[in-house]
Amino acid sequence: MIGKIKDWPNEGENGMRWTATNPATNTVIGEAEETLPEAVEGMYTVARRSFGVWAGLPLSERIRYLCKLRLTLVEEMNKIVEMIKASTGKTAVEALTTEVMTVIDSISHIEQRAPLALRTKKVKTPITLMGKSSYIEYKPRGTVLIISPWNFPFQLSMIPIVEALVGGNTVILKPSEVTPMIGILIEQLFEQAGFPEGVVQVAHGGKDTGAALIEGQPDYIHFTGSVPTGKIIQTEAAKRLIPTTLELGGKDPMIVFADANIERAVQGALWGAFNNSGQVCMSVERLYVEKSIYAEFMDRLVQEAGRLKQGTSLEDDIGSMTFSKQVRVVKEQVEDALNKGAVLAAGKHPDKWEEGHMFIQPLIITNVDHRMKIMREETFGPVLPIMAFETEEEALALANDSRFGLNASVWTSDIERGKQAVSRLVTGNAVINDVIITVANPYLPYGGVKEGGIGAYHGDVGMQSFCIQTSIMVDKGTKLSEVNWFPYEGKYEAFAELIRSFWGRKRSWRSFLRAYRRITAKK
Ligand code: NAD
Repeated sequence: MIGKIKDWPNEGENGMRWTATNPATNTVIGEAEETLPEAVEGMYTVARRSFGVWAGLPLSERIRYLCKLRLTLVEEMNKIVEMIKASTGKTAVEALTTEVMTVIDSISHIEQRAPLALRTKKVKTPITLMGKSSYIEYKPRGTVLIISPWNFPFQLSMIPIVEALVGGNTVILKPSEVTPMIGILIEQLFEQAGFPEGVVQVAHGGKDTGAALIEGQPDYIHFTGSVPTGKIIQTEAAKRLIPTTLELGGKDPMIVFADANIERAVQGALWGAFNNSGQVCMSVERLYVEKSIYAEFMDRLVQEAGRLKQGTSLEDDIGSMTFSKQVRVVKEQVEDALNKGAVLAAGKHPDKWEEGHMFIQPLIITNVDHRMKIMREETFGPVLPIMAFETEEEALALANDSRFGLNASVWTSDIERGKQAVSRLVTGNAVINDVIITVANPYLPYGGVKEGGIGAYHGDVGMQSFCIQTSIMVDKGTKLSEVNWFPYEGKYEAFAELIRSFWGRKRSWRSFLRAYRRITAKK
């Protein structure tokens, strides 16, 4: 029966134990003990004590720790891949490239870039504030709570952790209860890399643990997960005025113009829709193909989809679904589309899915429209619905007709045309002639718009988002008064002249200085 696989938590002697199951084999791979709400206060005490030590280290020293972490990850990559595979059912190549390699690359980027991104920055001071200098300083926020999902349990925990750490914060991670062994692995890796105790702690459990951690008043929350949970987290954070970043859902469009490299676009669509069994926030979930190439595109797509290998060996392309609940969501959306007139062009009809089976054969669906859930709601499974379009206007309107705005792609041999199309898409990320991949460039900020999320991480802004920005101005303090201080008597007309001469139609440096002297004479 679909849904029997994760039957947790189990009650233990002193609380709940979360059983981790390999979704591809339905075998138990371990157990994690739930962090009880009573333990949360102690975790914050430890985190705040460690903050004193960690934030006090020079940036170069924190980077040295991150370098040791990177080397540990390289040494342990096979072990990490095995645990990710067993926890999620994804293929080894995907575990290695989209989880382990991405994290290693992000750490390497931070090692190089943090000294620039987090250094104190001098900025200009306008002439009206003459005699002063200005700069921005980045300081750690304190203890950051990171709440992560199950689809990329390693990457989506580790990248925010290392970005928070480099800024001098301590971290409490609450990984998904669906993949608890990854939280345990992360704890071990930080210990192995020699991080000071208490700098990174992991709390195990589900929504109750997450809620208790928010009640504990972290200094910042970085959340990755679904829109409904994001709304709860934002509400709870707002009650306590805790700043947040929310990385949420997607329903990403792919637009293929007639002048695109069709072979490449076909392969891109298959990978974009079916990698990680489609359980990617930036999966291609809506494909719009120009009518004049639609028939040829469809033929090739269906043919190539038939070549994909599903399983868990090193040669396989598509692994299993991770979470039985998600299988039900996918089934429900596909059934809704088929009931409303959609046509299954490839893949097994949901009526024939074996209950409890976590491998969904990739589905290609035609005759869809925007009334169907499959074109409106996040599917998060290996499903590719396709529509034909006639004009660019129509394609862009269809792509923008969504609550989400995480990523989008445009395929054309005319790069200028691609850039113009992308400029008209309401999206946090966009790719021309590729899919998803912006997230792999650590120099680019990553975040969604609309229900795709609020805020961004990755890139310089990511490191900065985990910091307090203090804007500072310095005056030598030698003058007795300032032009804008009391008394105001006789200053109004002089200020009005200063504004006219400096920002008005007839700009005059001489009039500006005359007005300035008049004001200073009033002191
Ligand atoms: P989810 O929202 O169910 O859970 C995410 C995390 O929130 C889990 O750790 C869960 O235990 C915790 N949680 C749930 N309720 C909570 C509460 N009330 N208080 C505190 N914590 C709570 O999401 P999921 O099913 O694990 O992940 C899939 C979703 O994540 C999809 O919608 C996907 O699009 C999204 N996602 C987004 C990105 C991105 O970068 N934008 C990346 C990956 C996944």
